Amino acid sequence: MVRAVARFWREIPQRYNLMGNKCTVCNRVYFPPREVCPYCRRNSFGKMVDVKLKGSGKVVTYTIIHTPPSKFEGQAPYAIAIVELDEGPRITGQIVDCDLDKIKIGMKVQATFRRIQDDGYTGAIYYGYKFRPVEK
Ligand code: ZN
Repeated sequence: MVRAVARFWREIPQRYNLMGNKCTVCNRVYFPPREVCPYCRRNSFGKMVDVKLKGSGKVVTYTIIHTPPSKFEGQAPYAIAIVELDEGPRITGQIVDCDLDKIKIGMKVQATFRRIQDDGYTGAIYYGYKFRPVEK
């Protein structure tokens, strides 16, 4: 069981390790990774390098979801935030381990990997990153 989980994690490193990439011309960081830097365009060919993001950042804005898509029924209400990572990219994710009324713009958060949903049809369980507050 443990071995199966370990293999599962290795097989999708991008999703589980927050792998982004960086344009070494202008040093902008992207997540998900891009083939070409949209600022440097052709100058970035061959100059994009993988970077592992730390997963730490801050809440830029958030919204409380009261009426979720059907697959997420039973989880509402929950908070979805746009988080600006320390490296620069902005990504969207659910805020967990925090009372909804305690969430604040500018709050420091850390990415954590959690079950997102069960697929009752295929039996697959999807995991992804969510964000939890950083204790001070
Ligand atoms: Zn660039």
